[in-house]
Amino acid sequence: MIEVDEIDTRFLRRLKSEFDESHLACFQCGVCSASCPVIEIEASFNPRRIMKMTRLGLKSRVLSSDYIWLCSMCLLCEERCPQGVRIPEVMTALRNLAVEEGYIPEPMRRIRSLLAEGGRLYPIDDFTAEERIDRGLPEVEAEPEFVKRLAGGVKA
Ligand code: SF4
Ligand code: SF4
Repeated sequence: MIEVDEIDTRFLRRLKSEFDESHLACFQCGVCSASCPVIEIEASFNPRRIMKMTRLGLKSRVLSSDYIWLCSMCLLCEERCPQGVRIPEVMTALRNLAVEEGYIPEPMRRIRSLLAEGGRLYPIDDFTAEERIDRGLPEVEAEPEFVKRLAGGVKA
């Protein structure tokens, strides 16, 4: 059931400004859902439904949904979509908008926090700088500053 006041036309305009309007060509055939490998792990994930909610402008429902974070960006759906809808780009735009609106799932907040603090998801101390040099490998920055700056700039 959809209430008319759930439809947010500013959200639709914003999406159009984030990427091209290919998502408007979706005619709900379901090929994307039939192709998606994530569904084998999470049966309730449904890119076709996300496309429908997006086209209808159901901003709060879409941006607050954990499902937009499940897409693995494998591109299988995009290659098979008869309408040429670039679904992974839509998912990326939705995630960006979700972060702007403060809808960030807790696991993503933890990842952001780890990256902002240490520049990595786990320390690299089990493969030390000396060992890399011994093996002729280039040095790596233990705590990459650019990653810390990048993650630190995301509001969470
Ligand atoms: S495959 Fe393309 S046209 Fe079909 S439902 Fe998915 S996005 Fe829409
Ligand atoms: S790009 Fe995302 S939605 Fe499309 S098939 Fe891969 S995981 Fe599924």
